[in-house]
Amino acid sequence: MYEAVFAGKLSGNGKFTKACQAWFEQRYGFRKCLLTSSGTDALEMCAMLCSLKPGDEVIVPSYTFVSTALAFLREGATVVFADSMKRNPNLDAETLEALITPRTKVIVPVHYAGVACDMDAIMAVAKKYNLLVVEDAAQAVDSYYKGRPLGSIGHLAAFSFHETKNITAGGEGGLLVVNDERFVRRAEIIWEKGTNRAEFFRGEVNKYGWVDMGSSFLPSEVNAAFLWAQLENIDDIQSKRKVLWETYYKRLKPLAEQGRFTLPDIPKYATNNAHMFYLVLPSLEARTGLLAYLKEHEVYAVFHYLSLHSSEYYKNRHDGRALPECDRYADCLVRLPLFYDLKIEDVERICDLIEA
Ligand SMILES: *Cc1c(COP(=O)(O)O)cnc(C)c1O
Repeated sequence: MYEAVFAGKLSGNGKFTKACQAWFEQRYGFRKCLLTSSGTDALEMCAMLCSLKPGDEVIVPSYTFVSTALAFLREGATVVFADSMKRNPNLDAETLEALITPRTKVIVPVHYAGVACDMDAIMAVAKKYNLLVVEDAAQAVDSYYKGRPLGSIGHLAAFSFHETKNITAGGEGGLLVVNDERFVRRAEIIWEKGTNRAEFFRGEVNKYGWVDMGSSFLPSEVNAAFLWAQLENIDDIQSKRKVLWETYYKRLKPLAEQGRFTLPDIPKYATNNAHMFYLVLPSLEARTGLLAYLKEHEVYAVFHYLSLHSSEYYKNRHDGRALPECDRYADCLVRLPLFYDLKIEDVERICDLIEA
């Protein structure tokens, strides 16, 4: 960060931005990467690249963060909410096909807790109906589906480097991934306020100007430098998170076997990037009790998403379908503390409290 500051070039698309983008392209085989100021920005760029028209439908899980849906809604699309699976909160690929109409244009799988959706099934449906797939990989850095990096499978993908994610760009940050060659040029233009500035700097055109829609999606070099330092340490960060995650899993397994709650589900096709450790309790009352008990002992466990289809903003636009699995996770899921500085002793103490 000192280097970024004292180099005297703080605005976007400098040395550290390029280094981070190249790192992701090389390590995960992403076709083209562009750093953004947030995961939300990256999703908004994805939505713009999909060229949606009013009435076009986009399928989004209801159990997700607001931005997954909002990015597409802002482009004038209609959001059709999908239910989660019984086994984990990810979009249920088996009920996906029933949601498709002649107006469907995009499917947005969210890899909840960094655990892959069943991408073969989702990509097969997309191919059959000629749809685009945008992976919301906000939580899914360094995670895989059948050996393929998450973010490399859909036509487009978005990552987040918010401070709550595994790696951060100094509080806020994101990454757009373009895997489909058709979108590469337009992505750069949208990123640079609708101009062909990136081509100009590469010497491909002799002047630059306004050529399309866009916005200012670039992060500052200070954020990119912060992210670069995290990328240099990603293997250490990931292995430390995994040790904490495994400790929770081993300690809490006996209680799960007694039916007190269920532990995070990692299907055979998925890896664990230790983004989150969650429990699913049998009822809202059981969850409320556990959260209150932990809080009394100064452990700040938290619930997670409220179903977007029944949110204040969307409930009157939703088509009325019940999404029971999604509501169950909204009522019953608890996230336990998991962050880089957490100590094994802390995890042990939290597990003692849960047992008690
Ligand atoms: C964090 C997150 C986002 C938004 O990322 P920001 O960087 O906070 O804008 C979007 N989708 C999901 C699933 C997330 O977890």
